[in-house]
Amino acid sequence: GVEASPLLSVRGLTKLFGSFAACDTIDLDIGHGEIHALLGENGAGKSTLVKMLFGVLQPSSGTVSLEGKPVVIPSPGEARRLGIGMVFQHFSLFEALTVAENIALSLDPRTPLAKIAEETASVSRAYGLPLDPSAHVADLSVGERQRIEIVRALLQNPKLIILDEPTSVLTPQEAERLFETLMRLKAEGRSVLYISHRLEEVQRICDRATVLRHGKVTGACDPRQETPASLARMMVGTEVAEV
Ligand code: ADP
Ligand code: MG
Repeated sequence: GVEASPLLSVRGLTKLFGSFAACDTIDLDIGHGEIHALLGENGAGKSTLVKMLFGVLQPSSGTVSLEGKPVVIPSPGEARRLGIGMVFQHFSLFEALTVAENIALSLDPRTPLAKIAEETASVSRAYGLPLDPSAHVADLSVGERQRIEIVRALLQNPKLIILDEPTSVLTPQEAERLFETLMRLKAEGRSVLYISHRLEEVQRICDRATVLRHGKVTGACDPRQETPASLARMMVGTEVAEV
């Protein structure tokens, strides 16, 4: 039958570092308005996969399609143009600059700073991510710095926003605020690719989960239908020593 294409389809995506496959023939579909978890232990290949989706790394082989159309993503600038935003695990902010000045660096250089400051304030208000555009980054907490990255991504009106282990640097209260923002993005029909190894939060906020182990997909599920033990087993494998 005729079916709407998923927002994002990944087929056979592979990244070799020398002869080591950090990502090995990965298939992944993300629907419109879906919060999709990418689960896996340290070294499973999660960051490598999303860096390919954001144009930071180039695949060794495989394809990426957006709304059914194959795309090549040679750079983060092209990823943003295609409607993909990303919040990295490690931020790349200039401490000596203000919030608005940092955001300006990823926008058209002709945009007046006052306009960027105004849009930063309005987007941060609308999405429940309070930020003072004139604050210096050096004076901000790590949670506030992450908000800059989220607002920066949202200013480009992305269809897909990728977050790499966002709660690893947040207080429980900041994490709750982030989850509300993610629910709001979902309600707007945007899609989220959410990397985490915290099973309880994945079960709470995610609609689908893809599990990676040693660069390969070992499971795809509705995390709410799983137990923490069954999710953990997909992450660590079933090669348990015989008693
Ligand atoms: P995760 O984000 O799931 O913790 P990564 O994608 O960062 O995993 O890494 C997957 C594997 O690829 C790891 O074994 C890591 O050491 C390796 N790796 C990542 N980046 C590089 C690189 N630039 N060069 C060589 N190996 C890399
Ligand atoms: Mg990682």
